[in-house]
Amino acid sequence: MSCIFCRVVGGEIPAEIVAADAGAVAFLDVHPLADGHVLVVPRAHAATLEAMSSADVAALFTLVARVAGPARQAVGAAGTTIGINNGPATGQTVPHVHVHIVPRWPDDGAGSVHSLFRAGPRRPIGEVGAAIRTALSG
Ligand code: AMP
Ligand code: ZN
Repeated sequence: MSCIFCRVVGGEIPAEIVAADAGAVAFLDVHPLADGHVLVVPRAHAATLEAMSSADVAALFTLVARVAGPARQAVGAAGTTIGINNGPATGQTVPHVHVHIVPRWPDDGAGSVHSLFRAGPRRPIGEVGAAIRTALSG
């Protein structure tokens, strides 16, 4: 088994596990972006969110919702940024889906999700919405 998060799920390599259930496991990121930085992973291997079954997605986000508050409270944070690098083009370095829960403080200087992106021309949202609806019905 070469996938590092499959090995964490299987107990083959150590991790600071904070919660687990039948479908997902939550453990501390080994290089935390902030105190209390948790990763939540599905037990079943999948590289991207869209490769997961609906049941595994439900289990994954149920555990994310369960852990987010306690992770924030444990370190005295004011909020959390929750996100997924979904695919190699996004900077995903471990090809096993993982949801980052990163505790945040008002003055931590990290910015919002919007700060990841530069302003620039965009296609009309009506055109893009139609394209997505077509893709969904395909
Ligand atoms: P990403 O860039 O979204 O793929 O994030 C991968 C994350 O996994 C990084 O924040 C790493 O610090 C973290 N990471 C990698 N290996 C381990 C490990 N064995 N235990 C805990 N966290 C890990
Ligand atoms: Zn895996």
